[in-house]
Amino acid sequence: MKNLIGDIFQMKKKIIVIGGGVAGLSAGIYAQLNGFDSTIIEKNTQVGGLCTGWFRKGYQFDYSIQWLVGTRFGVFNDIYKETHILNEDVKVQDSSYHTTTHLASGKDFTIYTNIEEWQKYLIDNAPEDEKAIRKMCKHMNLCKKLEPFEMPPSLRTPIDYLKALKRSFWSLVTILRFKKMSCKEYLQKLNFKSPWIKEGLVDNYKDDKYSSIAFLLMLSWYTQKNAGYPMGGSLGVAQRMENRYNSLGGKILLRQEVKEVIVENGKAVGVELSNGERLMADYIISCADLHFTLYNMLKGQYLSPKIKQAYKNWDIFSSIVQISIGINATLTTDFPIQITHFQKEIGKTKISHSYRMINYSYDPTIVPEGKSTIAIRFNSPYEIWEKMSKEEYLEEKKKIAQLGREIIEQHYPGFSEKIEVIDVATPLTTVRYCNIWQGAYQGFNPTRANISKQLGQTLPGLGKFYLAGQWLYPGGGVPQSTQSGKWAIQLICKEEKQKFVSQSK
Ligand SMILES: Cc1cc2nc3c(=O)[nH]c(=O)nc-3n(C[C@H](O)[C@H](O)[C@H](O)COP(=O)(O)OP(=O)(O)OC[C@H]3O[C@@H](n4cnc5c(N)ncnc54)[C@H](O)[C@@H]3O)c2cc1C
Repeated sequence: MKNLIGDIFQMKKKIIVIGGGVAGLSAGIYAQLNGFDSTIIEKNTQVGGLCTGWFRKGYQFDYSIQWLVGTRFGVFNDIYKETHILNEDVKVQDSSYHTTTHLASGKDFTIYTNIEEWQKYLIDNAPEDEKAIRKMCKHMNLCKKLEPFEMPPSLRTPIDYLKALKRSFWSLVTILRFKKMSCKEYLQKLNFKSPWIKEGLVDNYKDDKYSSIAFLLMLSWYTQKNAGYPMGGSLGVAQRMENRYNSLGGKILLRQEVKEVIVENGKAVGVELSNGERLMADYIISCADLHFTLYNMLKGQYLSPKIKQAYKNWDIFSSIVQISIGINATLTTDFPIQITHFQKEIGKTKISHSYRMINYSYDPTIVPEGKSTIAIRFNSPYEIWEKMSKEEYLEEKKKIAQLGREIIEQHYPGFSEKIEVIDVATPLTTVRYCNIWQGAYQGFNPTRANISKQLGQTLPGLGKFYLAGQWLYPGGGVPQSTQSGKWAIQLICKEEKQKFVSQSK
């Protein structure tokens, strides 16, 4: 009875979460688990942000997750269970192949997800490089023990660092050794002789900034079967998180865009929506695009030196075009992700590197029976798109749809006639839906300049305000984004002097 009266009279603190992407949904879930009264404000008609999917003529097209680090164990896996990104009903698919590249010289180059299998394949096909191949695979294996921290930097104790050192010593040594090296430099240093490896691997990483660590870590996660694909895809992930949040009593306001964060006496006290309505709260967490948050909602008034220098010096991901295609035929493949190099100009878009084709036949939960769903993605510079007139834009989309048809015909001769729907999502689509800065769909590119850096979750001179989301961590991705939502609530709990919990009571 005493507790009940206590609960009734104890006013719950209010948290407004801006943005219902995976970071916002995660922040909302942990806010509810910790006894706050939270509301997520999302500008779209559905939550998920970039982690989404959509329906056209009976086909489901997916936009994000190909691999999810932490599907089997570890700190990210705990978050997936707590937020219901994964539960006992979700099957995780661990593919044997990472990608297969169709090389201009004619031969294919496959990256296996298992390091030992890949090593054998490489040595079988390029015995002259055995020493270099073994060295590279050894470095990947050494990175296997790396495990992310559970807590945000300001809440870690020296014991946390000692534990990490003990657990991940050799991984950390390897990372320190190569962290200043780009992948291009790393591969060049291995001095491969085989023209096949040079074309299939070295040329694939010709960007002279992309981090060697990002490359080494990738297979270290895959080989442990800890980077699978959750059946149901990105939309399934977002929907499960939404259900989890709703079941904990959270509120979601859809179709509402935050225009401004209201600040009084150096503290965030509420938000103003684009319809002029003002909503007040004890804490604000922005999980929306970082640039939009800083320069639009906060008018550039609360920038840390680190953030300023990140926008000035760090590379961002290229914006992309995705052609989603529904085909009335079953097109199966052993290699679900194929990369094809080509140089082509389509209207105003110059594709200078390659396109990636994903055949979703491995996920029967999103592909209608007897049909196929294929996505083709390629980089396309944002500058081209932002200058287009409406007419030019529609024309460009038409040309790209036609390219999609041609690509299907090349890979699956005779089947372009069976295409029932083609949907083209451009860099402007990403900006229109999610306010993504320059359409950079995973935020800052992980390069040798920033691979071990992250931007903080608070801003100088602004109290009661936290940041979360992909832009705080070079490389972005669902794991880091969802973790940042959890961390924001851990930081608020600390401020409120209450114990953080990650499970329902
Ligand atoms: C093609 C593609 C492939 C990817 N592949 C992978 C992968 O294989 N593995 C992986 O882990 N990650 C992948 N990612 C990245 C991953 O999807 C993102 O890093 C992650 O979803 C980002 O989540 P977020 O919540 O930080 O940001 P967002 O998804 O951008 O969410 C922000 C939300 O805020 C909303 N918003 C913005 N401004 C406002 C406003 N003013 N008011 C209200 N709401 C607002 C937006 O609508 C959006 O819903 C991929 C992404 C793409 C696009």
